[in-house]
Amino acid sequence: MPISFDLTGKTAIVTGANTGLGQAISVALAQAGADVALVGRSSMAETEAAVSAAGGRSLAIQADLSTLEPVDRVISETVAWTGRADILVNNAGIIRRADAIDFTEADWDAVMDVNLKTVFFLSQAFARRLITEGKGGKIVNIASLLSFQGGIRIPSYTASKSGLAGLTRLLACEWAGKGINVNAIAPGYFSTNNTEALRNDPDRNAAILSRIPAGHWGQPEELGGAAVFLASPASDYVHGVVLPVDGGWLAR
Ligand code: NAD
Repeated sequence: MPISFDLTGKTAIVTGANTGLGQAISVALAQAGADVALVGRSSMAETEAAVSAAGGRSLAIQADLSTLEPVDRVISETVAWTGRADILVNNAGIIRRADAIDFTEADWDAVMDVNLKTVFFLSQAFARRLITEGKGGKIVNIASLLSFQGGIRIPSYTASKSGLAGLTRLLACEWAGKGINVNAIAPGYFSTNNTEALRNDPDRNAAILSRIPAGHWGQPEELGGAAVFLASPASDYVHGVVLPVDGGWLAR
């Protein structure tokens, strides 16, 4: 059988799709043929227009993922739209910066809730549906270099993304036999809202750039290929990996 990256006839759910990496992933999946449910708490207008310009179809689902309230609704609204849900990209995430010595409980809980707790329960709801239907599917978690490294001044973010790498492996072990691939992408330093503070700090910006072998901050479109690969039949035997897309940062 020829290797296929084709997502025609599949429905993908992408969280945090209104901007940044989530927007680029949504467009890439649409270019590969998927219908895309765009999930987030802000207007999806920009991403809807980009998906449409790429020749794709999308549905905006309003959801604040800091609580579990929208978990079942995200799946049911998607299925009400196309009759199916084949791919889940857990991209929504937040970061809070402060020295560990001063870090607050509020900043700990806020980050863990969005980056880890909701990711788990949304994945569970998605997998329950697939397993009930006896169908396979794809889960792609957006991890981080902080799934491998410590970083500084982002204790809850590092804990959440390191936890997400572990969760990716656990879910892969439990669900691979049911035809569900669970993998993650670890983006390097990409130019989005998430990294604006770093890019605005001349010292941090120069230090980061000097360590990236590719010599530039990642542009969101540069993540699309990895997302399509892990969402497509081409990765059917790939389970539990955390794939760095980092311009060579971790190789350094
Ligand atoms: P971003 O801030 O532009 O996007 C984050 C997205 O998450 C937004 O769409 C935002 O609306 C959504 N979101 C946050 N809290 C939410 C909530 N409570 N409910 C619903 N949606 C919510 O930043 P980004 O860089 O595009 O981040 C996307 C993912 O990539 C995150 O998980 C981030 O941790 C991860 N990441 C980014 C980088 C980078 O360099 N930019 C590197 C590694 C990992």
